[in-house]
Amino acid sequence: MHAIGIDIGGTKIAGAVVDELGAIVRSERVPTPGDPALLEDAVVEMIRSLSAGEPTAAVGVAAAGFIDAAQSIVYYAPNIRWRNEPFREKLEARVGTTVVVDNDANAAGWAEFRFGAGRLVSDMVMLTIGTGVGGAIVAGDRLFRGGFGAGAELGHMRLVPNGIACGCGQHGCLEQYGSGRALLRMAGEIADAGGIGQALARTRDEHGALDGRRVGNLIAAEDPGATAALRQLGHWLGEASASLAAVLDPQRFVFGGGVAVAGDLLLDPIREAFLEHLPARGYHPEPDFVIAELVNDAGVVGAADLARVWVAEHA
Ligand SMILES: [Zn+2]
Repeated sequence: MHAIGIDIGGTKIAGAVVDELGAIVRSERVPTPGDPALLEDAVVEMIRSLSAGEPTAAVGVAAAGFIDAAQSIVYYAPNIRWRNEPFREKLEARVGTTVVVDNDANAAGWAEFRFGAGRLVSDMVMLTIGTGVGGAIVAGDRLFRGGFGAGAELGHMRLVPNGIACGCGQHGCLEQYGSGRALLRMAGEIADAGGIGQALARTRDEHGALDGRRVGNLIAAEDPGATAALRQLGHWLGEASASLAAVLDPQRFVFGGGVAVAGDLLLDPIREAFLEHLPARGYHPEPDFVIAELVNDAGVVGAADLARVWVAEHA
């Protein structure tokens, strides 16, 4: 039976009917309403439209934020005015199907584990390098959520003591050194320094600011300043991966998100820094580092499959 996956992003809601092999049968997308009541209406409308004419096993909803361990309540969402929102209950009452709610990075990681870059391993860590840094952990073939459901927030593990202030209220989180936003900061610093930063500085002068697309274009053109920024970013991600390997011992690290399109230009410095910082190097089995495969569909595919898993385990 098909399942439905809904991915609520900051700007759009994506939804799809997904089959048991992770293939998308049908999909829809609409802009994300700012008002929580209108957002709920939009999700209900999308579920009704996607499930029209055929039975569905369950609906999985993915959103950024802290979700409780029972996959029901959104404790906190950064992009939506939700605080302790019983989203599962509200949706189930309106659509009459089993609904489960999960963190968006968890959903993307699960999709990679089941159908993408992680499908041949039992233990995997995924880091999604977007504006921030999302994390997902699969351990022993299961998604790791933690005791309260708020685990695997890998973007907020501390990397630099007394480092840069983070939106979470702490200092020195990985997100401040390994995210798309961090890449732009590093690119700006290289532009300020002159030398290899000349093309970055020129781009910034022309357009008023550096953004992800323009820095990405310079990286693709192998501009020395932009690739140096990417190497800095990769170095921090590799250092963080070494700490994660000491704790979790995954067979594979998967990198997704907008910055991951750089491919080996990102992975090479990650591998280098990983080996430099790996405890007991030479005796510790070494995981591999790969780029995510599912890209834009990971959220909906993972949400749908997590809902299917929930139904199978609670039948
Ligand atoms: Zn933080």
